[in-house]
Amino acid sequence: MTDKIQMKTPLVEMDGDEMTRVMWSMVKEKLLLPFIDLKTEYYDLALEKRDETDDQITIEAAEAIKKYGVGVKCATITPNAARVTEYNLKQQWKSPNGTIRAILDGTIFRKPIMVRNIKPAVRNWKKPIILGRHAYGDVYKNVEHRINGPGRAEMVFTPENGEEVRHTIHDFNGSGIIQGIHNLDGSINSFADACFAYALDQKVDLWFSTKDTISKTYDNNFREIFEQVYEEKYKGKFEDAGITYFYTLIDDAVARIIRSEGGMLWALKNYDGDVMSDMLASVFGSLAMMTSVLVSPHGYFEYEAAHGTVQKHYYKHLKGEKTSTNSIALIFAWSGALRKRGELDGTPELVAFADNLEAAATGTIEDGIMTGDLANLAEPPAKRVANTEEFMEEVKKRLENVH
Ligand code: NAP
Ligand code: MG
Repeated sequence: MTDKIQMKTPLVEMDGDEMTRVMWSMVKEKLLLPFIDLKTEYYDLALEKRDETDDQITIEAAEAIKKYGVGVKCATITPNAARVTEYNLKQQWKSPNGTIRAILDGTIFRKPIMVRNIKPAVRNWKKPIILGRHAYGDVYKNVEHRINGPGRAEMVFTPENGEEVRHTIHDFNGSGIIQGIHNLDGSINSFADACFAYALDQKVDLWFSTKDTISKTYDNNFREIFEQVYEEKYKGKFEDAGITYFYTLIDDAVARIIRSEGGMLWALKNYDGDVMSDMLASVFGSLAMMTSVLVSPHGYFEYEAAHGTVQKHYYKHLKGEKTSTNSIALIFAWSGALRKRGELDGTPELVAFADNLEAAATGTIEDGIMTGDLANLAEPPAKRVANTEEFMEEVKKRLENVH
């Protein structure tokens, strides 16, 4: 084997919890450290550490991503009431992903990892469909009210300076329901910017869809901001890259996406993105075959797996039983971060390593060796169902062959 690949700038490494934490150190030990002189600035986002530091560690990690530009994150527990008891927490800390996203002002893009022997349920999808979901506002920050009898429901805006504005929502004759939602131009702007930047980064067309024929002010505002960001900042760059921006109604987009070959970035409002990302993950097979990257309009990137900490497998692992947990999404989080580091630093060896690591990982599955979650989906059926560690050893063998 030749000398280890050198890195110019460190990656921000954020360790996490449970089974993904176990796999995190295995990936480093088996697939990274033997090949790369790995430089990282390490932040331990394990729940115990977040509790110990009153969650300051999460904020420090996000600040470090601003400093270095690229981070890679393991899955972390978002505590609920049961976790507060399990870990004896000082409080029910917020989701680290939410905290980091708020600091980096980012949008999350999810992209399926495709292999030849796992076919998408939609048979004409040949290329991955990347989904960009707006992560602020709308129905996720709603105000709702149950109407129990006749009366007038109104929407009132009281400006800091100026006249009050009133709209009648409905004159109720009987019982019913109302809901108020909002969004912010600043947030929509960042979302649009991140989508154009990511489409450009991936060299794929950008599709955006809303229901602006019905929602003539609200959804139309999204459409106008996207158009404005495109015209002012990205039109020339898109033309140079040979990619296009395409706006269409959400129902038209759904029909066209299903009939397409894939290969685009599909930007969606918060609720549409929630629904469609679960559909995409199901069509492409599994959350363990899905990458996730947070892209900020300021040019910061954070790579992670789309799945959680795989708690059930971890409890088996703690009992000393073998697990068959899929490490593909974690491997791709690392390869994505290393590739971006290489591109930013001008170190093509690092970019090539990322490509080779991904090829070794998907190649292992294509050779018929896979973890239990994929065994039922593969066509032809798996030759061998590997445990967590065996799978990584197989990837390592294939990686050694190219290095
Ligand atoms: P999960 O960890 O994604 O696991 C749900 C189930 O999906 C697993 O039990 C397993 O099914 C299957 N699965 C997921 N990833 C897999 C993999 N790599 N290989 C094989 N099977 C896999 O979701 P969860 O159990 O709902 O959440 C556990 C913890 O993760 C929670 O505390 C949550 O807060 C956290 N979480 C973190 C993130 C993040 O940091 N990005 C995201 C989501 C959830 P089987 O049991 O049937 O094998
Ligand atoms: Mg959902």
